Amino acid sequence: MIKLQSNRLAELGSAIFSEVASWKQEVLSRGVDVIDLGIGSPDHGPSERVREALREAVSDPTMYGYPGTDGTPEFRRTVADWYRHRFGVTLDPEREIVALMGSQDGLAHLALAITNPGDIAIVPDPGYPIYSASLVLAGVTPYLLPLREEHQYLPQLELIPADVLKQAKFILLNYPSNPLSAVATLPFFERLVEFARRHELLIVHDAAYSEMAFDGFRPPSVLEVEGANDVAVEFHSMSKSFNMAGCRIAFMVGHAGAVEALRTLKSNIDYGVFLAVQKAAAQALRDDMLPGSSSVAALYERRRDVVVEGLRAVGWDIPTPKASMFIWARIPDGWTSRQISREILYNAGVVVIPGDAFGKEGEGYVRIALVQEEDRLLEAVRRIGEFLNGTK
Ligand SMILES: *Cc1c(COP(=O)(O)O)cnc(C)c1O
Repeated sequence: MIKLQSNRLAELGSAIFSEVASWKQEVLSRGVDVIDLGIGSPDHGPSERVREALREAVSDPTMYGYPGTDGTPEFRRTVADWYRHRFGVTLDPEREIVALMGSQDGLAHLALAITNPGDIAIVPDPGYPIYSASLVLAGVTPYLLPLREEHQYLPQLELIPADVLKQAKFILLNYPSNPLSAVATLPFFERLVEFARRHELLIVHDAAYSEMAFDGFRPPSVLEVEGANDVAVEFHSMSKSFNMAGCRIAFMVGHAGAVEALRTLKSNIDYGVFLAVQKAAAQALRDDMLPGSSSVAALYERRRDVVVEGLRAVGWDIPTPKASMFIWARIPDGWTSRQISREILYNAGVVVIPGDAFGKEGEGYVRIALVQEEDRLLEAVRRIGEFLNGTK
């Protein structure tokens, strides 16, 4: 009798996501027209020019060798150009940039590359699930940093206990954030860099939503802080910013030692991102630097307005997010996150994610992903309104 068992695996993953998936299956099997505002997967494709670049590259027989873990010189040079253009930050393409098979790849593996079992890492609660999962894989103990509405979901760094700081190797943050759609400004990053320097902590900043901000707001990079590449790495993803989630391409930049460590670990795991995909991603970054280039932000800004105004009109008072593809909504009194999400799905046919799927601090909230066209969002809002107002 073969016994396959991994305690590590048993600790991974939030059971809530599979629970929501099974609710959805059940509702679908009753023939309900379900509107899925659950998983944050972009519903549009990349631009025609990016698809053309990909088509051309795929037809080129020289694109089919092992790409190598670093990322091509062209891709890394283009990332460096884009960083200078977008943030005014200069990066060394040789030492400070590594290509990733999605930031999930980098986030999942970074702790393995830069920590030892028994170390501590500081991760946000609520937070994107891979942050904690990567610590499970590496045998690292999480310190869950609460992010609360009354502090605009920014951490209170001074409340982290001294003994935690002594053992902690890195602090991971994410602005604009999933699921919170909270944003950080440069003065916050300046304080964070100073704090990290004082406590000899690496800052790991996940900037997956940097290009998805509204009302003219331009999210800063932590690397804009003078000298921050001594203490910080930053993740960017082509998935959300350029609608390339299925292509699996992202990059980590910053602290040269951390870049080297992640590259070395990954050279034992994968052989890099398909060259054709790197070509297409470089095209997307170059196009983004052209004057008058269009951004995904406009689409999500309109969707945000539809949902925020719609929900307010039916009596659900939610704040207006400044960025990301999510609405993080405090739920009406008398419900748990799990209960109301289930009832919204069974009564209104709309999938939302219970806030506690992202950590215990998420209880009392649900996450609504803006991943359907406006007419579907309007319909979702109408149905949620009927449910909340008990007319159905
Ligand atoms: C979607 C998302 C990512 C991107 O993951 P990829 O692996 O690059 O597709 C990273 N971080 C957060 C917080 C996300 O929501």
